[in-house]
Amino acid sequence: MTRGPQVGQTVGVLALQGAFAAHQLAFESLGQKTLQVRNEEDLASVDALVFPGGESTAMSHLLRTSEMFEPINSRLSEGMPAFGTCAGMIMLSTSVIDGRQDQRSFGVIDIDVRRNAYGRQVDSFEMDIDVDGLQSPFHASFIRAPQVVRCGSGVSVLANLAESPILVKQDSVMVAAFHPELGVDNRIHAMFLEML
Ligand code: GLN
Repeated sequence: MTRGPQVGQTVGVLALQGAFAAHQLAFESLGQKTLQVRNEEDLASVDALVFPGGESTAMSHLLRTSEMFEPINSRLSEGMPAFGTCAGMIMLSTSVIDGRQDQRSFGVIDIDVRRNAYGRQVDSFEMDIDVDGLQSPFHASFIRAPQVVRCGSGVSVLANLAESPILVKQDSVMVAAFHPELGVDNRIHAMFLEML
């Protein structure tokens, strides 16, 4: 059953770096209230947090300098739902291969990812993918995308590209290697709202 937008709930979008505005537009097109999260006060007002695409090394650095890593970590460990795309997938994963040595991730979804594994920026590509639970293919953009190289047994795979999972979920955390926020199809955002 579709529950639709969760009345009274606010979806936070981490707004330190990257494509956060596109996520806000996608949620707002579904009637879901959103808030840009930059500090602890913002974080206290949200029921879920979205980690956008961008650059995970920069995001990790900014989370440290803004002293937001630990507050977010503690909300995530309490079970706050989270949705990560591309760099956001990297930020939520257990372990990051080919990252910077000082790069940190939250480890709330049991996957290991390899950064930029699908090639450099010039090799970015788009394709139609089949997603579990969607009636028709989803047009997905991959931009210097991370590749899932290990997937724990508690993780559900919702879409694959060749042999690699590209949309996965565990408990209240969902991550995509691609960018569902680019374009007009908000069905994957709607799937996340179903998890709230
Ligand atoms: N390659 C980027 C990183 O490592 C992710 C790219 C993206 O989010 N489009 O963070």
